[in-house]
Amino acid sequence: MNRDLPVADRRRVRRAALRLVRRDVPGFVATLLLNSLAAVAALVSPWLLGRIVDSVKGGDPVDLLAATAVVAALAQLVLTRYAERVGTRFSERVQEHIRAELLDRVLALPAATVEHVRTGDLAARGTTDVAVVGRTLRDAAPVILFSSLRALFLIVAVFLVDPLLGACGLLAPAGIAAASRWYLRRARPAYLEEGAARSELAEHLAANAAGARTIEALGLQDRRTRAAERVIERGRTAQLRTLFLRGVLWPSVEVSSLLPPVLVLLLGGVLLDRGQVTLGAVVTCVLYLRQLGQPIETILIWLEQLQSSGASFARIEGLATSAREEIAAAEPRGDRIEAYGVHFAYEGGDDVVTAVDLTVRPGERLAVVGPSGAGKSTLGRLLAGIDRPRLGTVTVGSVPVADLSPARLREHVVLVTQEQHLFLGTVRDNLLLADPTAGDDRLGKALAAVGADWVVSLDDELGPRSSGVTLGPDRVQQLALARVILADPHTVVLDEATAMLDPRTARHAERSLAAVLEGRTVIAIAHRLHTARDADRVVVMDNGRVVEAGTHDELVAAGGVYEALWRSWHGSRG
Ligand code: ADP
Repeated sequence: MNRDLPVADRRRVRRAALRLVRRDVPGFVATLLLNSLAAVAALVSPWLLGRIVDSVKGGDPVDLLAATAVVAALAQLVLTRYAERVGTRFSERVQEHIRAELLDRVLALPAATVEHVRTGDLAARGTTDVAVVGRTLRDAAPVILFSSLRALFLIVAVFLVDPLLGACGLLAPAGIAAASRWYLRRARPAYLEEGAARSELAEHLAANAAGARTIEALGLQDRRTRAAERVIERGRTAQLRTLFLRGVLWPSVEVSSLLPPVLVLLLGGVLLDRGQVTLGAVVTCVLYLRQLGQPIETILIWLEQLQSSGASFARIEGLATSAREEIAAAEPRGDRIEAYGVHFAYEGGDDVVTAVDLTVRPGERLAVVGPSGAGKSTLGRLLAGIDRPRLGTVTVGSVPVADLSPARLREHVVLVTQEQHLFLGTVRDNLLLADPTAGDDRLGKALAAVGADWVVSLDDELGPRSSGVTLGPDRVQQLALARVILADPHTVVLDEATAMLDPRTARHAERSLAAVLEGRTVIAIAHRLHTARDADRVVVMDNGRVVEAGTHDELVAAGGVYEALWRSWHGSRG
């Protein structure tokens, strides 16, 4: 069931980019204004040079014109530096915002999504893609903005000097636009493919590293190597494709930007003969058009980076798509958990949960029993929204439980297993995960309810740090249970929550657990049948299916699978 996260489409990318600009309008306007001023300042010198040529021809003095040219050059220098600084600052702020937003989005992804996306994909988006976009914003965006303005102003200026010569100038952008259009049409899919190939490679490496022992134990090295070669080949093909696209783009651009000055010289010569332009005007136009090559080349150097970072940005925005679309807008109505026609298979395998229908009534204590491997834990994960059914639906209050954001989900259902996590930080940090708004008094009450009397202060550091306290499994479990109390879900799914603890601490833990379960719907994956006897209803699973359901007494009387389980369990206990 592993799959790739979505990639945002063009419209969404455009909207996201606009949103980034709108967040900081003053910064953007200042950047635009300063860059425009710098671009205008750059127009002054060639124009003055034309005037100087005409003046020299006419025998007039040129000192003042020359002095003005020097001042203009200085002004341009200062303005350019300043514009660059303001632009870079603006970019840094945007970049910071993108990073913060990415983190928020990853944290808001539904558990079922995080469990089933490729870890390599998520990792690549969080590292490579963010870095590519960041680099573009820092290095490319200010330069591209300045160069675009400069090219625009240069062409306008040629037109103002002489419309006919200006028309020659238009050839450059026209040719370049045609070449770029050709390139851009093909570049997006090509760079997206390059990114996907990169993700696959990262994924492949991560899987190899994680499963190195298994690979060796099963002698799978050759097969994994062949698979790696296939992945690398995909990357190579993708890179060759983008290389080809650039190979066409560049020469076309070079020719397009060299042609106009040549044409202006030819046409200018004719017009000059006829007395329709001055020599100064021709000089100015040639200088302008010679200068045009530089910003255009700069833009194109960065176009490639812009293109690949556009793809990266689309992948980052894709996370938002995922977060937005998968988090159900609908608020669950009621506490009832229902499963209809649920099938589930682990990646590449057969169904381990098959055609399960189940309604859990609010307030009910439901026990799920069955032989090992029957699919009980998997059903528990499905009911708790950690996994998403392959077919069928699991809903809470009519809303698919796997679509709920983590924050929303934990208000409804929480899965408690023996596998609990302790986070580096204080006791308070660890508890606030469940409810960031809880005050110290609520935290204290939750700790008291689970019997965690060993906590001296909420500020105690936990975790394997020199100063930190290392906790035993029972205490880790207590903190996890305190988190459940704080999250305050109406339903708790228990899966071997106390199985790993030794009997003495297990009894202690059972007491803590009882406090947690008070007043909630409980779905207990029962590995010891006394849990089943105390339950309101027992569901028996075998081979992925629900084969029996009823109260303990009914099922014992029925003499089916449960009765056999009960007898053997009872027998083994003497
Ligand atoms: P139970 O809780 O009843 O012992 P499980 O739900 O743990 O059963 O497992 C049901 C089936 O799914 C078993 O055949 C088990 O091997 C398989 N299974 C469980 N977890 C995974 C997993 N992460 N990946 C692949 N197969 C799994």
